[in-house]
Amino acid sequence: MISQLANTAIRIPCSNCNCKTIKSMKWIKTHDAVACKCEPNISLNTEQLKSEIARDESSFAALNLQV
Ligand SMILES: [Zn+2]
Repeated sequence: MISQLANTAIRIPCSNCNCKTIKSMKWIKTHDAVACKCEPNISLNTEQLKSEIARDESSFAALNLQV
């Protein structure tokens, strides 16, 4: 079963400039870092990002329950 969540867009917050880079869950799981305009190598393996993803996962699950 292919999870629809793989195509869900996640907002990755930059800790320097606070801008958000949008990447899919699938992309995030196959990369260790993302580039921002201020920082070419933002680590994706942070507690902050993990909590962001967990929140998106739970809101996605909640949406599914309502359908
Ligand atoms: Zn930045």
